This record gives sequence, structure tokens and C-alpha cells, in this order.
Amino acid sequence: MNTEHSQMAAQQRVHELIAQHAPLETTLDAIADWLAILLPGATVAFMRYDARRCTLSLLPNRRFSPAFIERLQEVRVGPGVASFGSAAFERRPVVSEDIARDPRWEAFRDAALAEGFRACWSNPVMTADGQLLGTFGTYYRTPRKPTPASERLLLQAAALIALALVRDRQEHRLHLLERGVEASPIGIVMAEATNPDHPIVYANRAFCALSGYPLEEVLGRNCRFLQGADTERDQVARIRAAVADQREIEATLLNYRKDGTPFWNRLSISPVFDAAGRCSHFIGFQQDITEQRQQAERLRYQASHDLLTGLANRGTFDDRLAKAFAAAKAQGRRLAVLHLDLDGFKSINDGLGPHIGNRMLVAVARRLEALIGPAHILARLVSDEFAVLLPSIDGCPDATALAERLLEGLAAPLEVEGQPLHISSSIGIACSGDDTDHPHEVLQRADLALEEAKRQGRNTWQWYRGRQVEQALGDVLLRNDLHTALSDDQFELLYQPMVEALSGRIGGVEALVRWRHPQRGLVSPEAFIPLAEHSGQIIPLGRWVLRQACREMAELHARGGRTVPVAVNISSLQFRRDGFLDEVLGILTETGLPPALLELEVTESVLLDGAELAIELIDTLRGHGVRVALDDFGTGFSSLSYLRDLPIDKVKLDRSFICDTLHNPRSAAIVQGIITMAHHMGLVVVAEGIETVEQQQELARRGADLLQGYLFSRPLPLAGLAALPERLPAATSSPSGSDP
Ligand code: C2E
Ligand code: CA
Ligand code: CA
Repeated sequence: MNTEHSQMAAQQRVHELIAQHAPLETTLDAIADWLAILLPGATVAFMRYDARRCTLSLLPNRRFSPAFIERLQEVRVGPGVASFGSAAFERRPVVSEDIARDPRWEAFRDAALAEGFRACWSNPVMTADGQLLGTFGTYYRTPRKPTPASERLLLQAAALIALALVRDRQEHRLHLLERGVEASPIGIVMAEATNPDHPIVYANRAFCALSGYPLEEVLGRNCRFLQGADTERDQVARIRAAVADQREIEATLLNYRKDGTPFWNRLSISPVFDAAGRCSHFIGFQQDITEQRQQAERLRYQASHDLLTGLANRGTFDDRLAKAFAAAKAQGRRLAVLHLDLDGFKSINDGLGPHIGNRMLVAVARRLEALIGPAHILARLVSDEFAVLLPSIDGCPDATALAERLLEGLAAPLEVEGQPLHISSSIGIACSGDDTDHPHEVLQRADLALEEAKRQGRNTWQWYRGRQVEQALGDVLLRNDLHTALSDDQFELLYQPMVEALSGRIGGVEALVRWRHPQRGLVSPEAFIPLAEHSGQIIPLGRWVLRQACREMAELHARGGRTVPVAVNISSLQFRRDGFLDEVLGILTETGLPPALLELEVTESVLLDGAELAIELIDTLRGHGVRVALDDFGTGFSSLSYLRDLPIDKVKLDRSFICDTLHNPRSAAIVQGIITMAHHMGLVVVAEGIETVEQQQELARRGADLLQGYLFSRPLPLAGLAALPERLPAATSSPSGSDP
């Protein structure tokens, strides 16, 4: 009765321990205690099976000596390996009535006998589906075999042990999973699927950290407490629909923390199905990707914007232009592009430093932005160039009006670091039309128009005119050909005489370069000199002209021909370059031309980089006997003070002035003023572009010293020049026609 009571209590305890998920050793100890009551004199041992190694190991316990426990580690399962190895191998109980005699015990006999055991009954411990978990053995100190009752008991015990072991394994896995889920840096929540409000039944630490809500404020609530004013409704609707359909969904939406701060939540929700295939829960993974988003947005911004001014950059402008171009074409509308270039920005940048230059660009950007408004797209293309895209215009006046507005708007000084600074801009305008096939053509045309605006004296706008395009395309071809022109000897010089106004005697000649293009024939310097200046080829070309003019004149001189000075046009780029003086002196020495027979024609743009240097150089040249003439006087910024400041010998009145004098009293007055003033300062005055006898008489009357023009002679090759008479009466034929 007493035994039965205590065995029932012991068995109860085993059940309770298993139900409570008690630690495995505790449960196994309780099973051993329970069996000890039912099988007096028995010692019970559990061996765990390692399926991967196919071995059994005795679980350490206080009922055996350490030596015995040590001996029964990692014993390979197999037929005839004591009673436990055999039981595990055969998956059935194996009884060794007498260890001393049983051949299966041979390898472990000493150890068992030393431990004082004579009998051992081993039972396999298996799961319901036949998976081997281990064995358990019942040892006796005397030989014996089990009764049918104890056999049943042992089977029952094996089942309980299996339950305890399985629980322990599952428990182990669950603990591992839970620890993993808790430690996950991703916010994880589980919500009940069967309850229509989907209350949260689990949330890990990361979720609480992410949302700012403590666990107790999370459990039992629907996840929607994360939503707020700006949460995207369409994303929420997508999630709802997926949850209703019990399918997986991924979404990124704006959520709010407990303290109200928003964050971008990348969310993925999956349904969890139970063994019966019903959706029991939803599991949601949440990640705060605010920083990644901001980073991506920053990158996107940097790739599409000009970092100095914050305006769209060239790439963005091209994109928008392409889109607007396609849209305009599809709808039969037009778009317009304004290309702006600040006038004289380089000198501000060089003079005041890039820091002020940059601040100025920012100020210009802000002003343009205010003037242009949001309907059009403003971009900074490069350095001081901006572009405006008018995606849809009703007609040219739209674009012209904007250009006017921009020029006016820029007229007011900009405030840069507390200083008022003035800047103007030139603007080229072009619009899309039937003849534009590609968006970039529009920008290209605006660019051509911009160049024209610059040529017209800046601070103005100019529409693209078709004719220019051919010229510009020609420019590109010419530019390429220019590379080979020098080495292929395609240049030659013509000479045009300058005639003394009173006597008609030839007082000098001007060397004018020509390009005999293999396909195009004679190309005017007006077409290629600007290109050569742009590409830098003006330097070798200018050197060639100077040398050729000096050489040919020296030859003429040596042959006893007429001895008049030759005037050579010098580009400002050439003139301002270091070493120019040495070049001139070197060529004079080399060709043997007396310096007094050389004259250099420069324009006032030689003053652009500072008057002092130019003055010094002209002085030095003069000291060597080389004279300098100021060409094209009356165009550009021409100021009478130049005549006073520059140590020149001669001034050449520009052709455009001369044609005007006869009809325009103002021009006549200016011409007269210049001539009088120049004479006061001891300068020789040349009037160029004399085409008619009226002009000849008018300029002679007003006191010009030398006259140059088609009326007397077109530019001629050296031979033609040598053949001219010493005095040139006005040509009797009409001045039309072209150079030889
Ligand atoms: P420029 O120095 O003003 O040269 C005078 C231009 O006027 C020459 O044109 C000449 O042929 C032209 N001309 C002369 N008389 C008349 C006339 O009665 N009526 C008209 N309508 N035109 C007349 P070209 O030779 O075409 O040269 C044009 C410009 O090219 C020159 O203007 C000069 O600025 C530049 N250039 C010419 N040769 C050289 C050179 O060797 N080096 C440099 N740097 N520039 C040159
Ligand atoms: Ca000239
Ligand atoms: Ca000239």
C-alpha cells in the first residue's frame, strides 16, 4: 500500500515534470526514482543516441561511477555491442541475464563487473514514428531476467523517457528560435489571424525599440497604431487586401513612433498556417529604412543637381528636354530653350576670386529662379551658363518676353557678401519645329543664337536663325581641316596696298591671309581666324603669317622692288603670349627684313588683360623700330583715351564707319573727331574700306592720311603687288568682284 502510494506519487511527479517542460535531467531522475520503487534493487541508466555518429552515450548521473560513465561514451551502435548497442541496433528490448556469461558483453564486461553489475536489460527509446532517441538500461547486481509485468513496465518507462526527450529537443529548438527572434535587429510581430482585429500576440525587442512603444502597449492592439497623417493610403490598402487573401506582402510606408516622429518602415507580412492548414497568425518583419532612403535621396539629388546653386544640372536638363520634346511633338506643340551666358563672368572670377565668383553664380541662380517661376525648368549647364526650358509655348513672344524679363531682372545689382555687383547676360533662344528631329538640336540652336547675341555686343537676346546652322556645321568641318592646313601648306598671303590720300602713292601694304582649302577653294579669314583663335591654332598660324610676310617683303626688297612697310595682323592671343617679342625679333633677323618695314596691326582687345603690359610691349617693339597700328578703331569699346595711352603710330578707322560717313552726320562728326585728335597726337590715320570715289574724296577732305580699299586695289598676291604702278589712281572699274 505504502509502496503503491509512493510509486503513484513518483509516477505523477514524472507526468507533471514532463507537462511543465522541466529540465531533462530532473525528469529523467524522477523516472529513475519511480522505477527504483517498482523494481527494487534495479539501477536505471539512460543513453542518448547521436544519429549522426550512430553512437550511444550514457547520460552523466549520480548512480554510476565516473569511470563507468566515461567508459560508456560514444559507443558505436551495432549487433552484439552489449545489451544497449544491440537494443539500439535491433530497435527491440535486449536482455542480458548474466553479464559474466553473455558474449555480447565481452568488450564492456570488466567495466560492468567492476561497477558490480551482473544483469542488464536494455530497451530502445523511440518516438511514435520510430525514430531512435536512445536506450535505457536496468541493471542488477545478480543475474536475472524480467517478469512479463516488469517487461510491460519497462515499455511504459521507455515511452515516458521518449516523451521527456522529445519535449526537451523541441524545447531546445523553441528556446533557440525565441532567443534568435528576440535578438533579431529586425522588428518582428505576430498577430492573431483568427481574431478579426488581428491583435498582436508577440513583439520582439527590436520592434519595441523601433516603434518606441513598450511591450505592454503593443500586445493586444492592431498594428495600425503605427500609421499617421501621411501614411500612404494606397499602401495600407494593399496590405489589407493581402492580409484578407492570406498572402505574403511587402510594402514600404511612412509610420510614426510613439513620440510622433515619422520613419520609413519596410514591412513584410506572411501568413502562418497551422498543422491543419488554417492561417492562425500573421508574422510581420519591420525595418526602419529612413536612413537608407535619405541616403538614396541624397545620392539621387546629387546626381541630378548642380551642387553649387542647387539648380538642375545638365543631365537633368537633357532628360527634361527629351521628355518635353517628345510630348510637344506628340501634341503638335512647340517648346523653347533659352541659353544664357553671363557676360564678363571670367573677369569677375579672375579679379575677385573664385569664392566671390561662386557666390555670384548662386545669387544669379536665385534671381533667375525668382524671375522664371516654377512652370519652366531652369538648369545650370556648366560654369556661368544657364538654360531655361519652356516645355510648351504658344508662340515666339512667350520666349522673347521671358528673355527680356531676365535681362531686365539681371540689370539690378546682385548682392554678394554685402557688396553690390553688376552682371549682364547674353541669351540665345531656339524653339522646336518641323526641322528639329532631336531634342539636343534645340539646345544646339540656342547655343548658336547665344554666340550671335554675344557678337552683337552682349546683354541682349537673339533668336536662332536657320542660316547660322549651316555656318556652324561648316565651322565644325573647318575646325577639323584646320589641323592639317598648316602642315599641308594650304595658307597663302595676299597684300592690299594703302594709298597716300593726297598723292595716290602706295604708302604701305597689309598682309591678309587666305586659306586655299582643297575642297572649298579660298576661305575667308573671317571664317577661320575665329576658329583658329578658339582652338589655339592661331599661334602657329600667326607665326607663319609673320614669317611669310617678312620673308616675301624682304625678297621683294632684295630684288630691288618697291620698299614699303608691310602691316601684319596680330591676334590678341598671339600678342599677349609670352615670347611674342622674341618671335618678332627672331623672324626679322632670320628674314633680314629691316624692322622699319614691319608694322603690327593690333586691336584694342590687346588691352583686355591689362593696359600696362600692352603698353610696355608696344614701347619695346617701337624701341626696336617696329611700329604698331591700332586696327578696327571705332568698333567695340573704342575710346579716344586709347589713342592717348597707347604708344602707337597709326590708327585704322574701321570700314563700317567709313560707309556711314557719307549719310550719317553723327558718324561723320565722330570720324572727324578721331582724325583731328589723332593728328594732335602725331598719329597717322588710315581709313579702310574705301570703295567709292565719294568715300575717297570725303575721307581725304577730312584729313585721313592713308586710304585702303577695293577702290584702289583688292588684296593681291605678291606678283600682282609688284606689278602695281607706284601711284594708284582710283580704280576705274567697279569695286565688286572677289579676291584673285
Ligand atoms: P582687317 O584687318 O580689318 O582687314 C581688312 C579687311 O577688309 C580684309 O578682309 C580686306 O580684304 C577687307 N577690305 C579691304 N578693302 C575693302 C573694301 O573696299 N571693301 C570691303 N568690303 N572690304 C575691304 P579679309 O582679308 O577678309 O580679312 C578680314 C579680317 O581677317 C581682317 O580684318 C583681319 O581682322 C583678319 N585677318 C586677315 N588676315 C589675318 C592674319 O594674317 N592674321 C590675323 N590675326 N588676322 C587676319
Ligand atoms: Ca588689319
Ligand atoms: Ca581693320
